[in-house]
This record gives sequence, C-alpha cells and structure tokens, in this order.
Amino acid sequence: MRLSSMFVPTRKEDPADAEVVSHKLLVRGGYIRMLARGIYSFLPLGWKSVRKIEAVVREEMNRAGAQEVHLPAVQPATLWKESGRWTEYGPELLRFEDRKGADFCLGPTHEEVITDIVRGEIRSYKQLPMNLYQIQTKFRDEIRPRFGLMRGREFVMKDAYSFDAGLEAAEESYQKMYDAYDRICDRLGFEYRAVEADTGAIGGSQSHEFQVLADTGEDEIVSCPECGYAANMEKAKVGVEPSERPDEDREQLSTVQTPQVRTVDELSDFLDRRADEIVKTLIYRADETMVAVLLRGDHDANELKIATVLRDELGLEVGSLELATDSEIEEVTGAPVGFAGPVGLDIAIVGDAAVEAMSNFVVGANEADAHHVDVNYGRDFDVTVFADLREARAGDPCAVCGGTLEIHRGIEVGHVFLLGDKYSKSMEANYLDTNGKAQPLQMGCYGIGITRIIAAVVEQNHDEDGMIWPLPIAPYQVLLTVLHIDDEEVMGAAESIYEQLTEAGTEVLIDDRDVGFGSKFKDADLLGIPLRITLGRRGVQNGEVEMKWRDSDEQLEVPLDEIVDRSTAEIAERLEGGS
Ligand code: ATP
Ligand code: MG
Repeated sequence: MRLSSMFVPTRKEDPADAEVVSHKLLVRGGYIRMLARGIYSFLPLGWKSVRKIEAVVREEMNRAGAQEVHLPAVQPATLWKESGRWTEYGPELLRFEDRKGADFCLGPTHEEVITDIVRGEIRSYKQLPMNLYQIQTKFRDEIRPRFGLMRGREFVMKDAYSFDAGLEAAEESYQKMYDAYDRICDRLGFEYRAVEADTGAIGGSQSHEFQVLADTGEDEIVSCPECGYAANMEKAKVGVEPSERPDEDREQLSTVQTPQVRTVDELSDFLDRRADEIVKTLIYRADETMVAVLLRGDHDANELKIATVLRDELGLEVGSLELATDSEIEEVTGAPVGFAGPVGLDIAIVGDAAVEAMSNFVVGANEADAHHVDVNYGRDFDVTVFADLREARAGDPCAVCGGTLEIHRGIEVGHVFLLGDKYSKSMEANYLDTNGKAQPLQMGCYGIGITRIIAAVVEQNHDEDGMIWPLPIAPYQVLLTVLHIDDEEVMGAAESIYEQLTEAGTEVLIDDRDVGFGSKFKDADLLGIPLRITLGRRGVQNGEVEMKWRDSDEQLEVPLDEIVDRSTAEIAERLEGGS
C-alpha cells in the first residue's frame, strides 16, 4: 500500500482529553478518531490491527473447539426481564423503545440471547458439550468512559458461552478457554497475569481475569513470583507474618487521655507508638447487624473478605456491607467517632489475622478523648473469629507459599467465568441427563476485549517517539521509507523491493509521500511499523539500503540485492519465535 494515497491522518498534537499514552498515540498516528465520548471510529491502520487481533482470537477459539456465530446487537427487554437483569443491570444498559413502544436494549453482553437460542434446541446430554462464540460490537453506557479504547462505551468483544452436562464437564470447558486465553496473550506478546477474581453476585465457582501489566491499568493485581499465585486486589489472600505472642510479656491495661486524637497517624505521633502497635476498630453495618472489625493500624480493610467471613463464620445474610454512620458509631460505642475499641463492646468482633499475632497494643477506649494501651485479646476482650480481612500490600507474605507478594497495575483484557446454572435456571434452559431427568445446563462465559487489547498493546509497546507494534498484529510488517521520490534510481529500487516483498507475502507500506525527511522519520516512529527499510540517493548509488527494527537501536546497511531475503528471513524468524 502507498502511504501517499492511504488515509493515515497523522497529527502533531495530542488530543485534549487524552490521559494515557495509547490514547494519544493512536489518535496522533491516525489509527482512530473519536465520534462521541467513548465511541471511536477505526481508520485503515487501526482497523487492520483490529482484524489481526480478531484473527488470532478466532484461531484460538476454533482450535479449542468453539463455533463462531453472530448474534444481534439489539435485544428485546423480555429476555432481560426473564433473567432478572432488566432491573439488576443498572444505567450501563442502554434502553430504548421501538416504534410500537416495545422495550429493547443494546447488548452489553449476550448471556440472555445465547441461553434463549440454546434452550430451544438442546434436548439431551448427547448434544453436549457445546461452545459458541462471536466477535461483535457491544455497548455499555459506562459512567466514566476514558483512556480512549481502554474504557469505551462502544467496543468490540469476543464473547464465548459454553454449555455442559454437569459441573465437572463445565470445569473442563472452562479450563479449555483458560488455556486458549493463555495462548492468545502469549501470541500477542503480552506481559500478563491470569489472576483469580471474585465470582460475586453471580455465584459460580471460578473466575479469572487476564491482566496485562501496565502502570496505566485501572486494576490492582497481586502476585507471588515464587509460586505463581495471582489474584486481583479484591480477592487476593494474604499470609500471616510469623510472629510469636509471648504470654509472659503482658503489661497491665491502662487508659490514657488523647484529646482530639482520632486517626492512627495522630495517635502514633501522640503516644510515640508505631502504627503496627495500634489496632483500629471499624464499625460496619451488615444489613441491620452492627459488627466491629479489628485491623492493625497500618493495614486496610478488604470489604469483600469481611463480607465473606460474616456470611460464612457468623451466619449473617450480608446483602449489603457499609461503614456505620457517625451516629450509629456513637450509639454502638458510646463515644464520638475516632475512639472506638473492642474492650467492653457488645457486638460481634472479628479480627484480621495480623491482629492475632499482636500483644500490648493500643485501642480506642469507647469514651471521648481516651485510648487504652497495653491491651491484649483473650484477657481484655474476646474475638468471635480471626481471619484474613485485609487488603494485600507489596512485601506481604504469600498465603500459598510464604513468598513475598508483588503488586502491579493491570489492564483486564479478558475474563473467564464459570457461571453454573445462573441463567439456565432462571431462563429454564434444561437438558435430559443419562437417566432422562431434566437438569439445568451448566454454563461458562468468556470475554475478550478486542479493542481494549489495542490500547493494552500500545501501553506495553511504545517509546517517547511512538508505537512499537508487535509483528503478528502490526497493521503492516514493513515500512519502506523513500527519501528521494523524484530520483528515478531510488524510486525504481524502492518499487522493486516493494514488489518482491509483496510477492513473498510480506505486508509492506511504502512511504512515497512528497514530504521532508524529518516528517517521514517522525511518522515512521509514530506509526510503529516493525521493520523499516530506508532508501536514499547516496545509499542506492552505493548499492545499499538501511534496515532497522522499530524495537531496536541497531541500524544496518544491507546490500540492495540482499534486502528482500534478509527481511523475509528475519520476519519469518520473529513470527516463529512468537514476537
Ligand atoms: P471492567 O471491570 O473493566 O469494566 P468487566 O468486568 O465489566 O470489565 P466483562 O463484562 O468481563 O468486563 O467483559 C469482558 C471483556 O470486555 C473485559 O475483559 C474487557 O476486555 C472488555 N471490556 C469490558 N468493558 C469494556 C469497555 N468499557 N471498553 C472496552 N472494553 C471493555
Ligand atoms: Mg465493566
């Protein structure tokens, strides 16, 4: 393709609303343009990369035995009412009426549609397993669309849905998709982690997010380099630092006046005790029940873990879990906010595992302007249960192997989810088992953000001059930069290389524009085409051209008659090597 006739509107300026590098470079490189907030058009270069990413995903889905379908983007409300999500989904679901006044929505995801299709057709376990996928435009009216393609309102997703007879078979389907996602991330050259994620309100037994590591990622992920354990922040387990709690060293509890000293930091200064010698008492309301949660002063609460423990260990319902209001705290503790403590408290108390290893610590005295020091549980108060209730931090011990946890930021590019019977039960999608008994289908759903992947690729592959596309998904493999387009010898050599490379199956973009050298080099760096071959007058006269990979500083002079073989060989080698 000739750059002189191709639609690649590059720009010098970053878009005003761009905060992350992928957004800036994709707009400046003429890959995408914004139409409305969170809604983007793909221009020729951008669309070529989208199609290449789709092709990788499609190949791996097919390899895993999934079958491609194409489902409607417009979905009737009736299906969403059946699953209960017409009310549950909230304002991200874009709803509208047709001319007859019937309710519809733009599909943010397709569980309802696919379940509806399958329930009409699948009768027996003999027709299972089955996995159907599509690559399609989704719409979610995100509250904060941002970061360009990373969090759009309209975006392209690959979504797959598996149907199985029984949970064991469903787990196998889940594993197949997990493996396919691993292969996809490897082929795209990502540095990533597959992390355990919460199965939340949907229930289900397993869920993993595929997180591409990038400082601009919206998620925090926790991983252990020693054993490979990885989870998102919400779900990450923390081990307990080994510590003895010597009985003989217990001091006598005493009460000290701490006027206006409320926070851990203030208390730490005032009493000259470290934050990890202080225990903070958080009062929560789980539905209508008040509970106290104890954490070491330098630790943060993880509400998902707290809710789980209240549910599993205290038998509470926990539809909602919220920090108590100031007046509720006063009612429970008898003291203003900032002075809560476990001594004498008559509500359930749960403690973080790190608190179990502490002795002679500081707590609020449940009385204005006072704290207790040298407090010890068991003697001064009792705890219903100790459990892992806190947020992981870098350097914490791994709960699995005792190694040292690391924290990274990540971009969630994929999500696999074992759904169980959530949709098949509410929508009555059953199959007959080996005994002829009707059972709900066991389902899984598996999403990959195709357009979010574009953003993630650029976040991981760029420098200050522009994008650095990985070879398998670059819009073109080679950029032929012609410096003297009006020199017949140079242009003739360029045309010949262009033809031979194209003949050999290489995708070549030739910069034959009538612009200065500076613009050509700037755009070459900005566009990020992996291999650049530059032809200038002097070189061609000497029978040489310049060859440079975008991801390397090495610049080679290569004889004109060797450049085609040399570049096709290096491209083949890199494609085989997976980069
Ligand atoms: P997030 O937590 O980032 O909102 P999600 O959990 O809502 O994601 P899923 O419903 O699991 O995402 O969707 C599957 C995949 O679709 C995600 O892993 C992501 O790659 C992509 N995706 C989701 N929302 C968006 C969006 N607003 N813009 C671009 N891609 C998205
Ligand atoms: Mg979302």
